[in-house]
Amino acid sequence: MSTINNLVSFIRDQYKTEKFIPLHEPRFRGNEKKYVLDTIDSTFVSSVGAYVDKFEVLMQEFTNTQKAVAVVNGTASLQVALRLAGVKEGDEVLTQALTFIATANAIMYNQAHPVFLDVDLDTMGLSPTAVSLFLEEYGDLRDDGCYNKSTGRKISACMPMHTFGFPVHLDELLEVCNQWQIPVVEDAAESLGSYYKGQHTGSLGLISGFSFNGNKTVTCGGGGAIVTNNLELGIHGKYLTTTAKKPHPYEFFHDELGYNYRMPNLNAALACAQLEELEGFLLDKRNLATEYDEFFTNEGVKFRKELPNTRTNYWLMCVELNNKSERDMFLKATNEQGIMTRPIWALMYRLPMYESCQRDSQKNAEFLEERIVNIPSSVR
Ligand SMILES: *Cc1c(COP(=O)(O)O)cnc(C)c1O
Repeated sequence: MSTINNLVSFIRDQYKTEKFIPLHEPRFRGNEKKYVLDTIDSTFVSSVGAYVDKFEVLMQEFTNTQKAVAVVNGTASLQVALRLAGVKEGDEVLTQALTFIATANAIMYNQAHPVFLDVDLDTMGLSPTAVSLFLEEYGDLRDDGCYNKSTGRKISACMPMHTFGFPVHLDELLEVCNQWQIPVVEDAAESLGSYYKGQHTGSLGLISGFSFNGNKTVTCGGGGAIVTNNLELGIHGKYLTTTAKKPHPYEFFHDELGYNYRMPNLNAALACAQLEELEGFLLDKRNLATEYDEFFTNEGVKFRKELPNTRTNYWLMCVELNNKSERDMFLKATNEQGIMTRPIWALMYRLPMYESCQRDSQKNAEFLEERIVNIPSSVR
């Protein structure tokens, strides 16, 4: 209990308020108003406009990739990224059960089946060992790709998620997936500003998706981006998300089932202004993480830190409690005192839509499910 009281005053001190402290709130201290008003003055508030193009270039530069496509939200970016990677109706996609629902939903929107494999205890993201073990047992490599021996379905993608901005073991994962000819589609929704061996997350797999929702490191109200080093796929992504219309000065001709998943220029204006703030935000979060680490080390609580060879964005920071009852006490006491804390997600196979999906032992995922708690992580 003394830990909780110390924590409450520590956090109130960080944010200098006696009011309710949320998990993650946006900060608008730069050019946000200016750019948004600019779209209104120009009347270009909707699906075409200079800020959409600018945002795409900024994302390409920041992630050091060939092509970024601005879309309506992170979920849509993942849905289309999977389709671009070749996921078709009836296929399977390997992913983790310890994730936010959008990862699994994006798979189902493609009429594909998620297969839930375990995470690593250190990264909290998809485990290359678990993927390798699963494929050794069920993988059947044929001329046109990898099939699942137990279901007969094609495994057409693998979708790791960089939990709270901590990169998964990408070298090992890419190696296993290459060996089995399975393209990697990164759910990088939480990891803008996170790097693996110096390369931005979302730039190592075939293609990836980012989110700019209100609770993410930077936000544009609602928005997402598809990012890839495969220029051809990226260009096709832009085409598919803008209704697959053949360019023509006045005629309408669409030659594929496309989507209206464009990010409005109004949102892109906010996104551009927020990207200008990103480095400052990342620095402040990193400093907060150092202070949290010192605090929790003194209290004998395990604070989750950046792993070797990676740089994390510290999007949502978290502690690992010793067991479920300690976790429950921690959650109750902090929330009662106006400090928002939250357990990690319920595993996907606990939800009715996903309970019958194929999965492995989930030993690590179930361990983390009972112990990981997010703590306030906003930029101060
Ligand atoms: C936020 C998030 C998304 C997508 O979010 P949107 O709200 O659709 O922008 C996808 N996957 C994960 C893991 C996320 O945290």
